[in-house]
Amino acid sequence: MNPYDFVPIDWDKSPIRKPASPHDRFSGVSGKIEGTITAETPIFIFDSPKKMCGAEPFITNQQGQHIIPGSSLKGLFRSLVETVGNGCFLFFDGKYEDKDITTKLPEDFKKCETADLCIACRMFGAMHSSDMLSLGHVSFNDAVEVSICEHEAVYTIALMGPKPRHEAFYLDPEWIAGRKYYFHQPRGILPAQTKTNYNEHIIPVDTGSQFAFSLQFTNLETLELQTLLYTLVLEQDMRHKIGYGKPAGFGSVHFDITKLTLIDYASRYVAKQGTTEYEGEGRKTYLSEQTQLFTDDTTSPTLNALRRIWRWDPNDTTAYRYPSQDWFDKNSNAPIRETL
Ligand SMILES: [Zn+2]
Repeated sequence: MNPYDFVPIDWDKSPIRKPASPHDRFSGVSGKIEGTITAETPIFIFDSPKKMCGAEPFITNQQGQHIIPGSSLKGLFRSLVETVGNGCFLFFDGKYEDKDITTKLPEDFKKCETADLCIACRMFGAMHSSDMLSLGHVSFNDAVEVSICEHEAVYTIALMGPKPRHEAFYLDPEWIAGRKYYFHQPRGILPAQTKTNYNEHIIPVDTGSQFAFSLQFTNLETLELQTLLYTLVLEQDMRHKIGYGKPAGFGSVHFDITKLTLIDYASRYVAKQGTTEYEGEGRKTYLSEQTQLFTDDTTSPTLNALRRIWRWDPNDTTAYRYPSQDWFDKNSNAPIRETL
């Protein structure tokens, strides 16, 4: 089966835009979230600059610890908030596999360009040309290794899909099919035997490796906080994908929130204690209440597609690979689900 699918968008619901909450005074909820990230398959993130020879090492900080950079985490959660919160398409550049598809995204869904911002731009910041429209209200620190299981150096398979300009995959049929997400491949990564021009020689960290993550947020409205929490927690049988090599089975991770610290400025002046900490069972109850808006929604085509694509079933043995050129030649109008 093709290694990715698209999460569709309800084109009848335009992103709701408004100015971001202020930075110069407190409003809404601020706080900190801490937790762990556990690798469920090998994962890999490039260090920079890339090495000129030998296997590429996993990115480390100045202390030599393996990290998942805050910028990678921000990218992952910005795109998840766009998806489940119905934000704009920040990274849509009007191209798909070298084909011009500028007219295939409705105007209302294009990248925010004024001070009226979608939920993702309000939370993660937005620029237009050289103007800063919003600084953003969520910031991720680098996630740092807690325990690392080293994986031997591997050659990845070629990670470029064929470029058949197969419109039935990415057009639906009038507009783009949605946002691209990769399936999990719990049966493991697909290695190759040698280096070519189309693959990489890398040293991933293995299943079981663990990192500690933390993020801060300021002045979030209730819906923004609930959306952030849902994208972190997702649902019981779902996992995130991060880093390099997603089509080859790399990058499945489990986020677990261990502690939340909330400072509610709205209630600060009415109650004596404005800071609340959630850990243990209390944290579970709080998270399930706060994410209910999403978990209870069983009819949204967007959420249902994300549930299907990011479903984590450790016993799933589906073989994922890009269809061959031969398949594209024979099935020129077949949609993505018909790949075997
Ligand atoms: Zn936006």
